[in-house]
Amino acid sequence: MADPHVCARCAASGPTCCTLTPGQEEFCFPLSEIERHRILEAGAGKGFFAQEANTSAFLDNLRKLFPGEDERLDELFPARGAHFRLATGPDGECKLLGPEGCTLPREARPYYCRLFPLWPQRSEVMVFGAGRCLARQEAHGLNAILRLLGESKENLRHLHGRLRLAWGFQPRDGGSLFKDILNRNAS
Ligand code: SF4
Ligand code: SF4
Repeated sequence: MADPHVCARCAASGPTCCTLTPGQEEFCFPLSEIERHRILEAGAGKGFFAQEANTSAFLDNLRKLFPGEDERLDELFPARGAHFRLATGPDGECKLLGPEGCTLPREARPYYCRLFPLWPQRSEVMVFGAGRCLARQEAHGLNAILRLLGESKENLRHLHGRLRLAWGFQPRDGGSLFKDILNRNAS
């Protein structure tokens, strides 16, 4: 059964996907300008972002998410360059996290946050091995997690297509999703 409050319950009970291990900030996902502006428009100040170097560990992590797209990744995140990420406190918590979960409206959250703990890849949808994710703990298997989160594969693919576009990747399906995104221009 869908539980729209699963992430709020997760936030109330302990660390969530919104908290990283201090010292591992380089592994945080990057923010595109589109996503950053959307967060700014939602009322968050510039202190909610941090700049992070494009380290080889950061890129290796992204290569796992975008297999076969090394060349484009190197163009988007050149060595000695930097990218924006969400700012975190000394405890590793995203500064946008409140006691009842994310303080941003859903449509202003970064795409990666909206996809987690799922990640469409080619024709499959991967489930991240996130042991402390309450949705993962309470639902077993992709379909059960989708049901609990009230999500659909179609919407995940759409969000993922938007993330690819925002981050600077080419559309994956010959352009139809790209056109769909431009036409809908929503959330
Ligand atoms: S923006 Fe919101 S959902 Fe994303 S990591 Fe921060 S608190 Fe969590
Ligand atoms: S996606 Fe998982 S880890 Fe993140 S807040 Fe929701 S239940 Fe918790």
